[in-house]
Amino acid sequence: MRAVIMHAPGDVRVDEVEKARLVEPTDAVIRVTATCICGSDLWPYRGIEEVNGPSPMGHEYIGVVEEIGGEVKDIAVGDFVVGSFVASDNTCEICQAGYQSRCIHQVMMAAVGTQSDYARIPLADGTLVKVDGEPTEKQTKSLLSASDVLGTGWFAAVAAEAGPGKTVAVVGDGAVGLLAILAAQRLGAERIIAMSRHADRQELARKFGATDIVEERGEEGVARVKELTGGYGAHSTVEAVGTQESMLQAIHSTRPGGHVGYVGVSHGVELDGLALFLSTVSLLGGPAPVRRFLPELIELIMNDEIDPGAVFDLELPLEQAAEGYRAMDERRATKVLLTL
Ligand SMILES: [Zn+2]
Repeated sequence: MRAVIMHAPGDVRVDEVEKARLVEPTDAVIRVTATCICGSDLWPYRGIEEVNGPSPMGHEYIGVVEEIGGEVKDIAVGDFVVGSFVASDNTCEICQAGYQSRCIHQVMMAAVGTQSDYARIPLADGTLVKVDGEPTEKQTKSLLSASDVLGTGWFAAVAAEAGPGKTVAVVGDGAVGLLAILAAQRLGAERIIAMSRHADRQELARKFGATDIVEERGEEGVARVKELTGGYGAHSTVEAVGTQESMLQAIHSTRPGGHVGYVGVSHGVELDGLALFLSTVSLLGGPAPVRRFLPELIELIMNDEIDPGAVFDLELPLEQAAEGYRAMDERRATKVLLTL
């Protein structure tokens, strides 16, 4: 089968590899019908994360179940399925509490790779959610976004306690930040401040529900958010970047007693203990438990109540994955969908 393999930073190729197969009796193998490139795939691409030899890429996927292991009961061959970027049993105490991304048996799909014709899905019963009905092309894109970026944006908004009467600030205008805006809007936020300096992303932010745009960054951005909120700061802030600047921007934009949901994968963030103590805000973040939200998100998508697939602004065949990585690296694309 074909698979996207990163050989070194900046060196992504589509290689012929051994076809994905069942390893554990709880596995399924799916025929991937669409996958995509994630902002987090850019960390190794840019050499910020190490690349230890040729590595399979991708952790977002939708597809059709091709084969199941002997212990798989709830998922059947032929099912059209969506799963999260973390495989989970969905039965342990951590999963039951809604934190499937930290399941005691978790398997990171990035280590398995899903930018390929087929993919092995560990813990299939816990990980995969069946989609009933025949999704349209638009719904298909949205279902793919649910695999990570929509689910992650949703968790960030929930973690930040976005809701009725709340002012929500969103730091980061990548796919996750944009979809956190959509989530905040669906959760009933009164006002949503998108922090973005790119015209095309601002437009999408407004489409998803942003009421205000702040172009300034860092402490200037914080000052603008305070100005827009009567000097108080936001009730709820989403951090969807993962850098020192964005994390401080998020914490400082939040009023005392407010909540920060942080989902940008942390790279070099160091917080000063006393400053954190004095900020008097709640922080909740981490790898998003996308599986918690999947049934609800699938329903919203299949009822055409949300259109998160609008974040995909470039579609390429898997063969052209290298061009997709370049486009995202050079910020020519927000989110690249790879077709098979
Ligand atoms: Zn679990």
